[in-house]
Amino acid sequence: MRHKIAVLLCGVSAMLLVNCYGQNNSKTQPDQKNTVYSRTDSSPVKVSDKEWEKILSPEVYKVARLKGTERPFTSEYEHSKEVGTFYCAVCGNPLFRSNAKYESGCGWPSFFEPISKKSILEAADNSLGMRRVEVMCGRCKSHLGHVFEDGPPPTGLRYCINGVVLDFEKAQAANKKYNSKK
Ligand SMILES: [Zn+2]
Repeated sequence: MRHKIAVLLCGVSAMLLVNCYGQNNSKTQPDQKNTVYSRTDSSPVKVSDKEWEKILSPEVYKVARLKGTERPFTSEYEHSKEVGTFYCAVCGNPLFRSNAKYESGCGWPSFFEPISKKSILEAADNSLGMRRVEVMCGRCKSHLGHVFEDGPPPTGLRYCINGVVLDFEKAQAANKKYNSKK
């Protein structure tokens, strides 16, 4: 009997583990159903929110399509110093490079500039009784975060971005070079 319970518990733990990893993967390796995800195709994406709800994980959907905000100090990318590129987790559009990332201390990954002006879209956001500028993905118009004018030089801007809508890819070549010097 005891043995059976142990086996059962192991099974449950394994299921929970699979679940956790599954969720992780759905962010970094989008679901196969997400046929528009591409890191090279820059053509505009037109998918209804109803469709996105079926494709994206609930965490990504809430921020990207319902303009939600992830809890501060929860993103793995907030303090990341790895060299590489940050892509839109919804459509794969390249958004920010790690060399434009800095520690703002605000609780979310922060950048002083996007890869290009076309990488993002900006819009006035007067919700919650505040005047803010919303930042959206330039390709799929998913909500990413906000931009504030209290950033460091050279731009003086702080792009405050929800980590859950970012996919990160390490720069392989740069990494290899660095490691070979060790
Ligand atoms: Zn996008």
